[in-house]
Amino acid sequence: MQDLLLAGYVDEHRQELLATLTEWLRIPSISADPAHAHDVARSAEFCAALMREAGLDNVEVVPTGPGGDGSGGPAVYGDWLHAGPQAMTVLVYGHHDVQPVDPLEEWASPPFGPEVRDGVLHARGCSDDKGQVLMQLAAVRGVLSRLGRLPVNLKVLVEGEEEHGSPNFEDLLRRGGDRFGCDVVVVSDTTMVAADVPSTTVGMRGLVAFDVTVRTARSDLHSGIWGGTVPNAALVAAQMAAALHDGAGRVTLPGFYDDVRELSPQEARSQAEIPFDEGEFMAKAGVRQLSGEAGRSPYERTGTRPTAEVVGIHSGYGGPGIKTIVPATANLKVALRLVPDQDPAGVVESFKAWVATHAPQHAEVAVEPVGGVSPLVTAVEHPAVVALARAIERVWGKPPLFERSGGSGPEEALHRVLGAPVIFLGVALPEDNFHAPNERFDLAQLWKGVLAAGELLVELGHLHRPAGQGE
Ligand SMILES: [Zn+2]
Repeated sequence: MQDLLLAGYVDEHRQELLATLTEWLRIPSISADPAHAHDVARSAEFCAALMREAGLDNVEVVPTGPGGDGSGGPAVYGDWLHAGPQAMTVLVYGHHDVQPVDPLEEWASPPFGPEVRDGVLHARGCSDDKGQVLMQLAAVRGVLSRLGRLPVNLKVLVEGEEEHGSPNFEDLLRRGGDRFGCDVVVVSDTTMVAADVPSTTVGMRGLVAFDVTVRTARSDLHSGIWGGTVPNAALVAAQMAAALHDGAGRVTLPGFYDDVRELSPQEARSQAEIPFDEGEFMAKAGVRQLSGEAGRSPYERTGTRPTAEVVGIHSGYGGPGIKTIVPATANLKVALRLVPDQDPAGVVESFKAWVATHAPQHAEVAVEPVGGVSPLVTAVEHPAVVALARAIERVWGKPPLFERSGGSGPEEALHRVLGAPVIFLGVALPEDNFHAPNERFDLAQLWKGVLAAGELLVELGHLHRPAGQGE
């Protein structure tokens, strides 16, 4: 690996980088808990200092909240914009806030007392995401020290509210205007298949949810007097829930699959190579059987296929014992995961139409759409993905497989607001316990990640800016 640009740099700075990360991890920057607002602010200042040490300019802790009023967890920004107008502008994204730590008794060492055991660092936030942010900043510092310049114009944006749903992130991006403008976004907040199976995420699913309320009478009715003659709201909700899928496990919304884009042959080949152990998957979930869309593998069903889940159904009496009523109201909550090129707004219309045909005439049914995140994908043939694949192959010795993430995140806002493709250099591992007790980060992956982040800057430096965007 001696031909890698940062091989010597990593060898010389391992202890120092680990000490720095350890210090950062001692700050409990839990964004979901207002009692830790001060720690999130301290973590932002720590991150800003790292950016300055890395050699970034215009480093600033950026207040967030409506209109930037500071009510949200602060983000951190820094840039290096001296590569010239012909060079790509790259925005690196990560976050410095962390998840809560409960249940505390399940941690083998204190969540904010970082400890290395057998080459693996343990602490809340070590892999998700402070370690991966440090990985990017170490690469910047290393490349600047080796070359005296970066091959691209670089912007680094580190969010402070990712772990509680990025409530102010889109507003932050919009208020930033040109400040965050870029040709490509590099996200470092994901995992690889395994330490010896390098991979990169190329897409994330979208999400739209619905709160459906049903009313069949003015109030609950006595089952002895009215039962057997009046409609039952619980039954109406249950029948709608049951009608959401057909016998083959396919979602019955009209046109639901019309816009689902098939995988390119290259992505399909790569997906087929991703190791997947169905027994282990079932054991992890604690289920006796898998369900879902017929004719599609479980791996496809969690990443590249859309789904509809009943996430809640409530009606009637749920207290101790029995109450002899015919329920008058019911509530049904449904969440749909979307894939390219499904459009949340189109799915909202389709769901309303579906409810209109499935709700009985006699029931009052109201549908309230909740949220709406578009699916995101960057083609595996995109030059930026090809550049990333080369950088990963040079460090891990084999080309990465292409994964889709089943969840949704702020990456979609980055893509939509900035109008740039999103690529993922994520080096954490599935066993790193994101959001769980004993979060860990394999230090061998961290060092490889620094090397790969350095190679990626070099590779992106070889790309031309997309036509029509140079000035
Ligand atoms: Zn994260």
